[in-house]
Amino acid sequence: MSGSMPFVRRSHCCFILVRLDIHPAIEEISMASDVRVRFAPSPTGKLHIGGARTAIYNWAFARANGGTFILRIDDTDPTRSTDENTQIILRAMRWLGLDWDEGPEVGGDFGPYAQTERLDLYKQAAQQLWDEGKAYPCFCTKEQLEADRKAAQERKDPFQGYQRRCRDLDPEEARRRIEAGEPYVLRIKVPEDRGDVVIHDAVHGEVTFDAKELDDFVIFRSDGTPTYNFATVVDDAMMKITHVIRGDDHLSNTPRQVMVYEALGAPVPTFAHISMILGADGKKLSKRHGATSVEEYRDAGYLSDAFVNYLALLGWSLDGETTIIPRDVLASKFSLDRISKNPATFDPKKLDWVNAEYINGMSDAQFADEIMVPELHEAGLIEGNVEYGEDWIDALAAIVKPRTKMPADAVTVAAPIFATAETLEYDEKSVNKGLAKEGMGAILDAAKAALEGVTEWTAANIDAALEPLPEQMDLKKRVVFQAVRVAVCGNMVSPPLGETMALVGRDDCLARIDRARTMAL
Ligand code: GLU
Repeated sequence: MSGSMPFVRRSHCCFILVRLDIHPAIEEISMASDVRVRFAPSPTGKLHIGGARTAIYNWAFARANGGTFILRIDDTDPTRSTDENTQIILRAMRWLGLDWDEGPEVGGDFGPYAQTERLDLYKQAAQQLWDEGKAYPCFCTKEQLEADRKAAQERKDPFQGYQRRCRDLDPEEARRRIEAGEPYVLRIKVPEDRGDVVIHDAVHGEVTFDAKELDDFVIFRSDGTPTYNFATVVDDAMMKITHVIRGDDHLSNTPRQVMVYEALGAPVPTFAHISMILGADGKKLSKRHGATSVEEYRDAGYLSDAFVNYLALLGWSLDGETTIIPRDVLASKFSLDRISKNPATFDPKKLDWVNAEYINGMSDAQFADEIMVPELHEAGLIEGNVEYGEDWIDALAAIVKPRTKMPADAVTVAAPIFATAETLEYDEKSVNKGLAKEGMGAILDAAKAALEGVTEWTAANIDAALEPLPEQMDLKKRVVFQAVRVAVCGNMVSPPLGETMALVGRDDCLARIDRARTMAL
């Protein structure tokens, strides 16, 4: 323990306490319907799927209730919190489209919005509890606490926590020890007669904790920093948070936090503890299951709307069946009563499906502008759509979009169209299956002759020219079209032939068939 002193207790006669604005005033109680929620990430790492879902629920709940969504940075752990992580979290929040009404960069009436900047407020609140006899200094050393725990164990005492050794210390003695420089922590005094602490959780229902089991827990450490359970409640009370929506790993902290609210004389908010997110193996989602940070999903090309939609469904449902829930619906219909108690399972395949649904739900023009053209630019396939013209781009978008599940697919699908007869890459398997076979040369010859007769190079005319070939050659339609497809596109999975060939252009199509002819038998 360090020797520094977080507090110097002054005698009541000369210490004028600055009261904090955490006691409910009449008008504040009557404003109880004015929803204020917060997302309070610790910048000890990137924003992960679980945190993102908590943020989404808070944001959606605020929006659905015309409330205020606050972003607070819980950076009290100096060894693990970094500014870089804070920036990463802010970037992820922006990418998710979760705009905050109060918090870093936007300010607000209840700031500052980073815990490290609120130290004085925690000190004042702790001082207040101390002055009111609701908190007390404890000088027990680690060794003493350990010895007490062992003794409790030996006498089979079911309670093995803090034995309240310093609870009734004579204040004069405490003052002397503090002045002599003895290190101490500040503990909250859980009222003797408190009885059960009952939490009415919006997700879990009534959860009862035995107050006797609650330690007189530490609210301020000997190094002058507040503990999580204390700082969080001071913040939530001062920021007038009405609903605390967070992961259920914090449920066990809640009775202690209720003790702090009660000691401060602040109203206890409604709690909603949301279930864990599990991987497919039923274990808590972690790195082992693949990408866990929001950034990784952004970089992999997932659409923000689709990602938010999918995460919202991990533990919440609109009506038990709707899967595609656009952001505006989420922001108007989200409710706590439809949050499930059961852990949700993260299913990357379902996320992919939702992502593909969002892509397919776009208009061709939107798909072209927001996904296809940027992807093709990045891949170096186009250097500006001016060269191609809007109609050409739209026609390309119309055939690429249904084949795009992830933005990068647009490049794979469109690449053969951007190739030339010289640069087109032929997929070996496709060549072996559809081209390098007896009789395929004759198909290409016939196709070329038919295509040479096409005067206006449109998808419909190309299809019309190729259509009669199977019958004329007494071959299966699939065989004929496959040969032409491999010849022109280099593979067997390309978009519809007529449309593709129209986009490739007449001369290059014919040149591709010439090149393919050398591979056909
Ligand atoms: N900073 C805490 C966390 O990231 C916040 C918990 C809470 O919402 O109270 O887990």
